[in-house]
Amino acid sequence: MMVSSIRGIGMTSDGTRRRLIKQLRGLGIDNQVVLDAIVATPRHLFVDEALSSRAYENSALPIGRGQTISQPWVVAMMTDAVLRSNSGDDNAAETGRRLHKVLEIGTGSGYQAAVLARLADKVFTTERIGELSRLAKQRLHALKIHNVYARHLDGLAGWPGQAPFDAIVVTAGGHLPEALFDQLAEGGVLVAPVAAEHDRQHLIRFERTAEGIEREDLGEVSFVPLLEGLD
Ligand code: SAH
Repeated sequence: MMVSSIRGIGMTSDGTRRRLIKQLRGLGIDNQVVLDAIVATPRHLFVDEALSSRAYENSALPIGRGQTISQPWVVAMMTDAVLRSNSGDDNAAETGRRLHKVLEIGTGSGYQAAVLARLADKVFTTERIGELSRLAKQRLHALKIHNVYARHLDGLAGWPGQAPFDAIVVTAGGHLPEALFDQLAEGGVLVAPVAAEHDRQHLIRFERTAEGIEREDLGEVSFVPLLEGLD
């Protein structure tokens, strides 16, 4: 009891979160819907207690098993990228559309899924490492986030039983399987770190339009690798 109440003070203080939002604005994130979702999501509860004082810094942090919780700026960029849609009769052009079904590959800590849960009706998220999947499920349950469906699955196959998705977010870097594009609805957006030359990764936003797949490069990023099979 003591520990959890002390832990709440400071980490969750409005000041620390507001500083992060200011930083994100400085980095070009101006979508208020995205910023509101980030302010409302307690990132300190998605990292180990020893790291919680650093949870509102704009940095990636270790979550065990060699994996990381993504940098808030990257989470914001990816979230903004899937909310925008060039096709469809969406009149909320500035802040984006309401998402029905979203698929995430790489649950990790569950943080990105929790942010997406505020902006979508249902979030399906897959994680290949059983231990991380289990911990993420516990956190999401404790936070009473009930519209995230987390499974210990290899996300390279997507989640065919729930397709098509309005958005697919891949939070590990590598070569994208065709299966993911097949599960993207028309007007849907897939955002992923894609392997480029010299071991680099670029965050690419793909949108399925009536004409085909549009591609937009959002810049260089660094994610843990997208791997095959379960662990
Ligand atoms: N979205 C996470 C970031 C986690 S890092 C968060 O907000 O915390 C990326 C995660 O992708 C790692 O946990 C890694 O184990 C997982 N991963 C890598 N390849 C995968 C695959 N093929 N299927 C599912 N998860 C995968």
